Amino acid sequence: MSREPITIANRQIKPGERVAVDVELPKLSSQTDIKMPVHVIHGRREGPVLFISATLHGDELNGVEIVRRVLATKALSGLRGTLIAVPVVNTYGLVQMSRYLPDGRDLNRSFPGSGRGSLAARLANVFLEEIVSKCSHGIDLHTGSRHRTNLPQIRASLTGDETRELAMSFGVPVVLNAPEREGSLRASASEMGITTLLYEAGEALRYDTVAIRAGVAGILNIMRKLGMLSGTSKRKPIQNTPYVASSSSWIRAPESGLLVSSTRLGASVEEGQVLGTIHDPGIGEQCAVTARHAGLVVGNLQLPLVHEGDALFHIARFDDESDSIIDSLEEFRDRFS
Ligand SMILES: [Zn+2]
Repeated sequence: MSREPITIANRQIKPGERVAVDVELPKLSSQTDIKMPVHVIHGRREGPVLFISATLHGDELNGVEIVRRVLATKALSGLRGTLIAVPVVNTYGLVQMSRYLPDGRDLNRSFPGSGRGSLAARLANVFLEEIVSKCSHGIDLHTGSRHRTNLPQIRASLTGDETRELAMSFGVPVVLNAPEREGSLRASASEMGITTLLYEAGEALRYDTVAIRAGVAGILNIMRKLGMLSGTSKRKPIQNTPYVASSSSWIRAPESGLLVSSTRLGASVEEGQVLGTIHDPGIGEQCAVTARHAGLVVGNLQLPLVHEGDALFHIARFDDESDSIIDSLEEFRDRFS
């Protein structure tokens, strides 16, 4: 029995078809048309329907390149199920090099949205209706916010068995158990019964080679795990079990000034360890920034200029401390750089 067609943006896509369609969005004030580009590969054979979304935050670009590379993968010709890839969800933010929408709202705090709400609420609603509601699984691609970079990591609510299994299969060494945030795509998708992972890697407004390569490999790993692609990865897994962080917190600047960092992304730190020093360029005073608890640096600020209260180092806590995470991170870096 052949599969049913799928309809996106009023376009009916038959099994075996691969198309790019545009979802119309509200215009700019200048009357410039704004569209959300959507790539659909509707396989002939039954299988999961997976969405990959990037750039919900308009300045987070790694995901655009990850989607481009995934779509160029030859193995997709034998796809089981359906892949719906949206490289730029927040086109408004992209053209303004901004995380936000022109109305100042954060799209990833505006779900599920509504067709009669703010611009952000309307975009969230269109994305849920046109894309997410037709899917069984999803992967949402993010980077750190501006001037902040993230160690490649999966964030997911690990309470569900399938979510946990997929999070552990992506192929990055760190998985952060992160409850869904109200208003996020992940929260709305999971309410709709759609298993969703969030991949965080790199920095806003930058392409990061390791983040991009690991993201592409991770998506293909998930598609194999779901039975959408056949075969196994040519590469052996870095390690069978990634390190699961039970929680994480940001160390904030105790003073304003210029930060000289003495730790790096992926470093393992002890409680009380000095992570950096904030210098006052006027009278030359300095103030140490210390770790409140032991853990792994999974995100940090790249810009030396800081105000008191700015988030500087994101430290993930692990249930079982292990030195081997450092080896596994080194192997990961070597593989994808
Ligand atoms: Zn983001």
